[in-house]
Amino acid sequence: MRIDVLTLFPELVEAPLGYSLLGKAIEQGVLTVETTNIRDFATDRHRTVDDEPYGGGAGMVMMCGPLADAVESLKPKNSLRRVILMSPRGRRLDQALVRELAAEDDLVLVCARYEGVDQRIADTLVTEEISIGDYVLSGGELPALVLIEAVSRMLPGVVGKWESVETDSFFNGILGPPQYTRPPEFRGMEVPGVLREGNHAAIRRWRRKEALRATRLNRPDLLDDLTDEDKKLLAELARECGEDAKEMDR
Ligand code: SAH
Repeated sequence: MRIDVLTLFPELVEAPLGYSLLGKAIEQGVLTVETTNIRDFATDRHRTVDDEPYGGGAGMVMMCGPLADAVESLKPKNSLRRVILMSPRGRRLDQALVRELAAEDDLVLVCARYEGVDQRIADTLVTEEISIGDYVLSGGELPALVLIEAVSRMLPGVVGKWESVETDSFFNGILGPPQYTRPPEFRGMEVPGVLREGNHAAIRRWRRKEALRATRLNRPDLLDDLTDEDKKLLAELARECGEDAKEMDR
């Protein structure tokens, strides 16, 4: 897969690409990430890429010209099928969208700065806007890296065992289960016995129940698509917490 990133700060995007699983994916050629400096497409002596907003107001807006030329310069190398503007006004990134993007041959990610880009760029060259969450950062570089790292985990061979992707939070709709490692006792706290007894059916059920417990506590909005076993486990959790199981069923 190929990802082109358009930015005013290429070094900011490139630095994290050398590490850990993302670094390995790039080294092995599973993923290619290239940056393009939008400022290289400025046409004046001062290499200007931003200007004051029409209608007044604070801040600066990224101009059409350099952005349009920068996107179009990718044409020979990138299909430009998906030109994504990182933007708090976009569709929110989630695991389903990450999987969808990972199925593409290539992507373009546009990182804005200042108050964002001229809307005419968003309306034409850009095919979609993606946000990483309901908060505002100072630039699209960190959001682009978040998207790249999430997408890279879905590419074959990046995460050593696919099973570890499948048990991650969100892959099956709910949060992931808690994990433990040696030692069996730490400061008086013991690893749950079921995990040490080798009964795989019991371990699977325990993990699903604990995943549901965390989801119920932190992300009840994710509990809409449940199997019969999940419903039973949730009713069990409700009873343990002293709630009316009927209430939970509703
Ligand atoms: N004025 C804009 C915010 C500009 S922040 C607005 O109100 O929507 C500057 C740039 O940082 C944005 O254009 C975008 O590229 C990036 N950015 C900031 N927050 C983001 C988020 N939550 N998700 C994706 N990109 C974001």
